[in-house]
Amino acid sequence: MNSRLDVPLESLTSRPSAQAHAFVPDNNSGRTFYLETFGCQMNDHDSEKVAGVLLQRGYRQVETPDAAGLVLYNTCSIREKAAHKVFSRLGLYREANEGKIIGVLGCVAQQEGEVIFERAPWVSLVCGSASYWQLPEMLVRLEAGERRVTGLDKDTDETFETEMTRRDHPFRAYITIIEGCDKACTYCVVPFTRGPERSRTSATVLEEARRLADAGYTEIQLLGQTVNSYRDPSPRRMSFSELLTAVAETPGIRRVRFTTSHPSDFGADIVQAIDAHPGICEHVHLPVQSGSTRVLQAMKRTYTREEYLERIAMIRGARRPISITSDIIVGFPGETEGDFADTLSLLDAAQYDSIFSFKYSPRPNTAAQHMAGAIPEEEQGRRLAIVQERQRQIQTTRNELLIGQTLEVLVDSQSRREGQWAGRTSSNRMVNFSSPSSGLLGQYHQVAVTGAGPNSVLGNHVL
Ligand code: SAM
Ligand code: SF4
Repeated sequence: MNSRLDVPLESLTSRPSAQAHAFVPDNNSGRTFYLETFGCQMNDHDSEKVAGVLLQRGYRQVETPDAAGLVLYNTCSIREKAAHKVFSRLGLYREANEGKIIGVLGCVAQQEGEVIFERAPWVSLVCGSASYWQLPEMLVRLEAGERRVTGLDKDTDETFETEMTRRDHPFRAYITIIEGCDKACTYCVVPFTRGPERSRTSATVLEEARRLADAGYTEIQLLGQTVNSYRDPSPRRMSFSELLTAVAETPGIRRVRFTTSHPSDFGADIVQAIDAHPGICEHVHLPVQSGSTRVLQAMKRTYTREEYLERIAMIRGARRPISITSDIIVGFPGETEGDFADTLSLLDAAQYDSIFSFKYSPRPNTAAQHMAGAIPEEEQGRRLAIVQERQRQIQTTRNELLIGQTLEVLVDSQSRREGQWAGRTSSNRMVNFSSPSSGLLGQYHQVAVTGAGPNSVLGNHVL
């Protein structure tokens, strides 16, 4: 497994690798954990932090639930299918979980709460992400033999700060800068499962960026459900765009990404920061959800189609060629053929470089759950296929425009086929390329683009 330990906060000056070793806890304690993560990048990164807390307490990570004393599932409930997955995992333990402690973390934990103990009495820990900061204390209680430990309080202004984070990606490191969400999109469980919006201080974020740079990372991704709603709680009062610039200016950091941006909070200052600083990646993920103002209002997205397209025009007006990606939901209750046609025409107008598209899925506690005008699953599937086909054509055309250009990629994988590598551009485009060189992983290289498909471009290493 590719994973690295972050450098602990208290020893910032000596070499990172030595610090990581100094901080590796006693692995002979016999305490082992298995952690499986479902869902988004925020969950992935939460799991990195949870793993850091466990490693620091002397636990050792193992690759299978069978080998573990503590089995944790970090769950997602954004759509129904994702939430179901965890219950099928928990079903595996009905018969035999001798001596194992089983825990459910994340969004399903927060959403279902103590009901999980009723559905799966062999579970001992149910903890939502807003309570992760209390994990060390919860672990003490579990280790002392308590069988029902919960962390379900959401009304918190605490963020999850860890002294150590176990990093899964060898080249790109995540930093959560804002947790929770204060928006109220009518389809979305996140405000219920992740609690209110709370930002970390700019000083803490910048210190983490410095530690990551010291540990050898060159690319940082700032995370938040609405990352650009960031509000520095310290007297420094850094704006999101100032923080972005400051992270990009951290010595050793070559690229900083950020996701997800909410259109209503997306100001010209962010575009100006991207233009002014080559280290800020030329990519904005700006989910629109629907191209119909009527549906956007029913979703409580707080912008109209026209206002959204104004943001797109502002981004397209930048000096740098900023790529724009989005999320689309089809089949929201009451979505007419006309509304759906508006979504398709918005795809044409926005010319996204890529999208994530979903069938609307009713979620507990949300305002849309009982809205009239449910769209049958089959019709949702039809609309989804049409959206995906339209977008596939747009992406192919956009990628073909890159043929003949030379792009810089951060090389992040090597194919089994000799001499074949892959990496991502600043615009987050996947580039597959040929090179006779070896040892390219983690390095930045120039690639001449020779071909294009809908999801990636092809090229040759410029030596
Ligand atoms: N905070 C981000 C934003 O506002 O754009 C998105 C967060 S959510 C984890 C990721 C995406 O899941 C959303 O942009 C939306 O497209 C999709 N999503 C959320 N709730 C959904 C639901 N009930 N049914 C289908 N898709 C949903
Ligand atoms: Fe959910 Fe809307 Fe918040 Fe995004 S902005 S997390 S879609 S409520």
